[in-house]
Amino acid sequence: QFITFEGGEGAGKSTQIARLKDRLEQLGHAVLVTREPGGSPLAEEIRSFILAGHAKPLGPFAEALMFAAARIDHLDKTIKPALKNGTTVLCDRFADSTRAYQGSSGAIAPSVIDDLERVALAGTKPDLTFILDLPAEIGLARAGERQALKGEGADRFEDEGLAFHQSLRRAYLAIAKSAPHRCAVINADQSPDEVEAAIWATLRERLPE
Ligand code: C5P
Repeated sequence: QFITFEGGEGAGKSTQIARLKDRLEQLGHAVLVTREPGGSPLAEEIRSFILAGHAKPLGPFAEALMFAAARIDHLDKTIKPALKNGTTVLCDRFADSTRAYQGSSGAIAPSVIDDLERVALAGTKPDLTFILDLPAEIGLARAGERQALKGEGADRFEDEGLAFHQSLRRAYLAIAKSAPHRCAVINADQSPDEVEAAIWATLRERLPE
């Protein structure tokens, strides 16, 4: 099974992915955790390039193409082989991030994003997508604390400002509305234990096996 996690900055995706992995492994499932952009050696190189801001001069469309190129390699080298041997794949961000982030830039038409997604995915879709939802202010504050703790600077996208992150949140909620069978919106403005419980209950209900 292919399960993806989406949400804005500071939503708690990594924490929740680690917790879900532990739970599934305790039940005897083989689990692979991966992420986007990245998830294969070549795609990780593209990730570093984009997040350092090197693709920015190419403009939003070419940047979106680079995300798509990374996704193709990630699917071929990491995701599809794992799914084929029965491993459950937990992916930190996937195609919905392109729709939300590159889409929210306002510079790329939704129909172009549709085309890119269709070409890059070539039929592989998540079975379930958790959208960790919380107000942009809270997410940005959490992400800021995390950077301060790690001594990191903001990356190319974390730097975009509140209005961008608010439109990002709206974009994610619109995605959930347009694909209700695939997507589950989880209130991420709760304690990690509460979010974990909500995710687990949803998983049992949506993918019972
Ligand atoms: O999930 P994580 O914070 O590691 O994501 C890395 C960065 O890449 C984030 O700042 C996210 O905003 C950005 N991103 C993006 N477009 C995507 C995927 C990720 O702008 N399609």
